Amino acid sequence: MGLDGLVPRHVAAIDPYVPGKPMEELERERGLAPGSAIKLASNENPLGPSPRAVEALRAESERAHWYPDGSSWALRRALSRHHGVPFEEVAVGAGSNELINLLALGFVGANEEVLLSSCSFLCYELACRAAGVSFRSVPMREHTVDLEAMAAAISERTKLIFLANPNNPTGTYFSRQTLERFLVRLPPRIILVLDEAYFEYVEATDYPDSLEYRDSIPRLVTLRTFSKIHGLAGVRVGYAITDASIVQFLDRVRAPFNVSSLAQSAAIAALGDAAHVARSAELNRLERAKLFTRLEALGCRPVPSQANFLLVEPSRPASEVYGALLARGIIVRPVGNYGLDNHLRISIGTAEANHRLCVALEEILS
Ligand SMILES: *Cc1c(COP(=O)(O)O)cnc(C)c1O
Repeated sequence: MGLDGLVPRHVAAIDPYVPGKPMEELERERGLAPGSAIKLASNENPLGPSPRAVEALRAESERAHWYPDGSSWALRRALSRHHGVPFEEVAVGAGSNELINLLALGFVGANEEVLLSSCSFLCYELACRAAGVSFRSVPMREHTVDLEAMAAAISERTKLIFLANPNNPTGTYFSRQTLERFLVRLPPRIILVLDEAYFEYVEATDYPDSLEYRDSIPRLVTLRTFSKIHGLAGVRVGYAITDASIVQFLDRVRAPFNVSSLAQSAAIAALGDAAHVARSAELNRLERAKLFTRLEALGCRPVPSQANFLLVEPSRPASEVYGALLARGIIVRPVGNYGLDNHLRISIGTAEANHRLCVALEEILS
């Protein structure tokens, strides 16, 4: 039977998201010993979750027969205290990805459109496509979101803008000054989403913390996640800090129990472990610098990054290098689906994993 008419056209047009290959899959395919593959493909925390979060997950599992608190009250209270913002201005989701989907679904009408940057997080585009809303991508410049071009691209129809800072998959960021020049040109009716999934990894002193702009930009949505520095990617929990009315409308389009009880408990515990966050940031700082230098020496042209990954452009075709690394049990991320056919994205791992990667690249590229 053909697929004609099975789904609306905007759904048929969606290319499914291709995630980083799981380690178990590579081990299965290549007959490698379980636990021997390394994954540097999805920007996970190589130190894992905080031991406190693991303990919270264990304890909460005993109560898994109860539905979660649908309002995520305790987690939202913890976030509101942590960030010093009112409780009503915090929304949580099953990963920040869910919040991205809900923003596209709930806030953009038929005659309105979303503005994106090219080579930015693919889930923005996917969210628009799934919601059936129009979007336009503005080209990047030198691996960096071009805020000037984005401001110029704003039209009467523009309703929502997604910006990742630092950006994935490039790792680049825009400065406070660049953001402020953009904000002056932003009509107040537009919802501006600043996705700060890699916030805790940033070292640049001119990096703008979007929470500082809340008073001047009423329709600002700050997105953060527990998937990256908190090491809870498998648990699925992220959050938004934004105007209370936006939180209320997000509540109308989300599922009643969108964040699991395990996720709520683990996130609260993770938020309370500042030492684990500091350790994770420090490891990333040291290893990112070391890996950058080695990759540069190998002719891989790494792009300066404020996040926990590096975008590289190897001297041999990226697809060949990707395959040769897989053959050695190492998974990195091809980024052809971002329009970066010659590049690979490599997450910063432990010192040992990064070393193994460099030894393999030396073999492959020599
Ligand atoms: C990883 C990432 C996220 C986090 O997604 P979750 O759904 O919270 O796991 C959000 N935005 C960007 C740009 C990312 O790279």
